[in-house]
Amino acid sequence: MDYFTYIKGELHAEGVPVSDVAREAGTPVFIYSGGSFASSLTGLRDAFGVTPVLVCYSVKAASNLALLKKVADLGMGADIVSGGELYRALRAGIPASRVVFSGVGKTGREMAEALDAGIMMFNLESLAEMELLARVASERGRTAPVSLRVNPDVDPGTHPYVATGLRESKFGIPWGEAREAARLALSMPSLSLVGLDCHIGSQLTSAVPFSDAVAKLSGLVSDLRSSGASVRYLDVGGGLGITYHDESPPSPTEYAAAVTGAAGGIGGVTLVLEPGRSAVGNSCVMLARVLYIKRTPARTFVIVDAAMNDLVRPSLYGAYHGIRPVSEPSGGAPLSRVSVVGPVCESGDFLARDRELPPLASGDLIAVFGAGAYGFSMSSNYNSRPRAAEVLAEGSSWRTVRARESYEDLARGESL
Ligand SMILES: *Cc1c(COP(=O)(O)O)cnc(C)c1O
Repeated sequence: MDYFTYIKGELHAEGVPVSDVAREAGTPVFIYSGGSFASSLTGLRDAFGVTPVLVCYSVKAASNLALLKKVADLGMGADIVSGGELYRALRAGIPASRVVFSGVGKTGREMAEALDAGIMMFNLESLAEMELLARVASERGRTAPVSLRVNPDVDPGTHPYVATGLRESKFGIPWGEAREAARLALSMPSLSLVGLDCHIGSQLTSAVPFSDAVAKLSGLVSDLRSSGASVRYLDVGGGLGITYHDESPPSPTEYAAAVTGAAGGIGGVTLVLEPGRSAVGNSCVMLARVLYIKRTPARTFVIVDAAMNDLVRPSLYGAYHGIRPVSEPSGGAPLSRVSVVGPVCESGDFLARDRELPPLASGDLIAVFGAGAYGFSMSSNYNSRPRAAEVLAEGSSWRTVRARESYEDLARGESL
């Protein structure tokens, strides 16, 4: 089902005409479809059929409490990478027992907070981190459940900034050191080795790297079991790609088949999935209003009121986002080649470059598709621009789930 469609010539989010949202909540605004988000999550879980699986939504993709509340209501967990994300997950009602904590730079304070909350497991990324966690846990008289995030050295075939499972990457314990790391973990009384983990990258459009990585990990599970570890979780990370333009990523069913096929013989494990982008990426559009059309001898610019501070992916990764007018253009409307840019003082501030778009005029609304993942969550106040509002649409109703920031918000905590 498509949750963003034209009905009588007007773009809708579920049953909500998005121009209503723009009129009342202003622009730029991120509009999430609750139905789309929930169905992406349950679709992924259900694709695994009878295989025991826990979906831990990757909070960093889109962290609004209203989205996290949906995750909690679905009985799912969270993959966090900071104390701030732990705070959000718990505040939204996700039980700590369904929280996994990843990331190469967890601080002692963050470890203590997560231990006190009673999270499901820490995904450890280095021996130095393991030593600190062991110390923090023993000081607090606790046993820390840990899983080793190993770097399986497979090429995800994705943008270099989001490839995380290559030998050169900062993530994970190098493949050749995983057994030694496990031996060390087993020898530490304040740690309990419960799982193995990997996360090889983001926006993968082939299932092959997933099955390669999981096959390597499964082999290691058997090894560790024979040396006395009771490995209960096999965390396969996130990374499943979505269609922004013309990509054809594996379907949830194909992905599940690749993972379970590679995990093959090992019994007695629960698979942990950490979807971010595939859960929320296409569950949101960002609306912007056209300010000016500026024609120069070299190019035509459509200057809109959203910028790289609102949606940085085009500037950061050269990412493609579909853009369409909110009022459906007539079938025969002529296309012209334009660049859609924001007001920020950087030449790298663009939402689309040299894109064929139907006629646009000052005052028109445009929708930027696929804005849910690493959209609002990567936004900033650069150029002292208040961050956009976030809205959740469900059926024919909608509500603001994060107010647009004010000028006072911009200066909060500052002093003269
Ligand atoms: C970012 C991240 C994810 C989510 O990745 P997606 O590509 O958005 O699915 C999962 N696990 C870890 C450890 C991450 O850092």
